[in-house]
Amino acid sequence: MPARIDLHTHSNRSDGTQTPTELMREASAVLDWVALTDHDTTAGWAEARSVAEDLGLGFIPGMEISAKDGWRSVHILAYLIDPGSPGLMAELQRVRDDRSARAERIVKNISRDYELTWEDVVAQTRDGATVGRPHIADALVAKGIVSDRGDAFDGILHPRAGYYEGHYAPSPLDVVGLIKAAGGVSVVAHPTPSGRARMMSLEAYDELIDAGLGGLELDHRENTADGVAVLRKLAKKRDLIVTGSSDYHGAGKPNRLGENTTSEAMLKRILEAGTGSQPLHPAR
Ligand code: AMP
Ligand code: FE
Ligand code: FE
Ligand code: ZN
Repeated sequence: MPARIDLHTHSNRSDGTQTPTELMREASAVLDWVALTDHDTTAGWAEARSVAEDLGLGFIPGMEISAKDGWRSVHILAYLIDPGSPGLMAELQRVRDDRSARAERIVKNISRDYELTWEDVVAQTRDGATVGRPHIADALVAKGIVSDRGDAFDGILHPRAGYYEGHYAPSPLDVVGLIKAAGGVSVVAHPTPSGRARMMSLEAYDELIDAGLGGLELDHRENTADGVAVLRKLAKKRDLIVTGSSDYHGAGKPNRLGENTTSEAMLKRILEAGTGSQPLHPAR
């Protein structure tokens, strides 16, 4: 049987709902390899690796980095980076700090119309976790203002609801360069969530590939078919790595572990190209 490989998951070190330990245990039941890719942080790596080792589960240290291409939010997965790389870590600290200040601004906006305080959001956020709208959503649920995260994102947290604030993020080109300098492999996460017309331009992709972009996450539930068709051609032409993953967030999203997977051949390319940190091979 081919190995079951899921390269995009979140723990409560960002906006997943499970500890790295719980996540690795669940992954071990359905997968042979898993990557932990919390938003803008490596805080879950040590715990996840040690539990994966006990379970004999293959483990890839990873991260999902927030970037911005003009108005477009672009998420870039980084695998096997060196967590000591100063350029990358300084940039991530800046992103996390601004995410926190921005979450406070959103809460202030919401508090004009609803009973919500910053303390309510802090209570939903694990110490040191990367703060995002999902934590505000959890606070809105706890206060009984909405029924679940999805409800919050469709309503109060929607950019057009009037409470939204953006946060600082580097350009995709900067992020790809920082990942490369940290010995990692970069893969654009869910590259076409809202149709071909709204995805990054092919000129921008060419520039990223020239700068060292490794691959595209083409099998992801949020991608649209028209965009994927274009990007599959690009991947073939430029010999990119193509991945499939769940983007599991525990109870925070409907996505299930292993609902999309990556082939062994593509994993092999990531393992060969990533030199900044060590993967853990499955032992069972
Ligand atoms: P932020 O980066 O703080 O703007 O929040 C965006 C994050 O919220 C994304 O990375 C997703 O993980 C999560 N998210 C987006 N839409 C939803 C949704 N409908 N339900 C749950 N989580 C969501
Ligand atoms: Fe997320
Ligand atoms: Fe994402
Ligand atoms: Zn994600």
